[in-house]
Amino acid sequence: MRRNAAEVLERLRDHVDLLEESGAGFCLAGPGKPQAAGRAVPAGTKPAPPRPGAPAFRPAGGSGPHAPDDRDAAEIERQVRECRLCPLHRLRTLAVPGEGNWAAELMFIGEAPGRDEDEQGRPFVGRAGQLLRKIIAAMTFREEEVYITNVVKCRPPENRVPHRDEVEACFPYLVRQIELIRPKVIVTLGKTPTEHFVPGRAGMGELRGRFGDYQGIPVMPTFHPSYLIRNEGNRELRRMVWEDMQKVMSLLGRK
Ligand code: SF4
Repeated sequence: MRRNAAEVLERLRDHVDLLEESGAGFCLAGPGKPQAAGRAVPAGTKPAPPRPGAPAFRPAGGSGPHAPDDRDAAEIERQVRECRLCPLHRLRTLAVPGEGNWAAELMFIGEAPGRDEDEQGRPFVGRAGQLLRKIIAAMTFREEEVYITNVVKCRPPENRVPHRDEVEACFPYLVRQIELIRPKVIVTLGKTPTEHFVPGRAGMGELRGRFGDYQGIPVMPTFHPSYLIRNEGNRELRRMVWEDMQKVMSLLGRK
């Protein structure tokens, strides 16, 4: 019982922290901000194991209705780690295939690995990743319930935007991941992934907050967490991201 109460409190702290961070603090009643110290996922930390007593989720390659074959998932990861299809392989430390649940309902797609991700071979482990993981927690998902990846799997030099030919070389890996996972919703983070799923000339300001469609899967474009960090004082941006995520939660029956 005590452990359950601690878990509920922990989830509540995540949620409140995200509301604060997203500029949605106006939703919160009462003074003071709960301390979320220690809740960010530090670089190098592996995803937490399932908490005792937590609701069951479909494990990678597990028993869910669309659970893919472990061998397929492992084979994609192996191919990505050994891939030399575009010049980005020359400068990488580690390729970053993605991580999470291969039978996830919700999939997040970012642009490309950064320095921390390149060093660890894991997606979204730097500062932007910590914010994304807070957003995921605030959406009432555990990290091991979702799948997180990028459009390109190797770090572009100086974190530049990936070139079109690099994205085109890498995109088949992402297509295969989506085919295997078959998520109910995809969230694209920032312009690079969004323009490949919701084509057109519109900017993120117009595209965000409205579901697009990819092969029958709803796609919600929203701002990349690193953009929120670069515009740290802009609470309106955070409020917009939280609004977008609430639409995703609604579609998935999480609110
Ligand atoms: Fe291969 Fe993609 Fe890495 Fe290019 S970015 S080397 S296509 S895994």
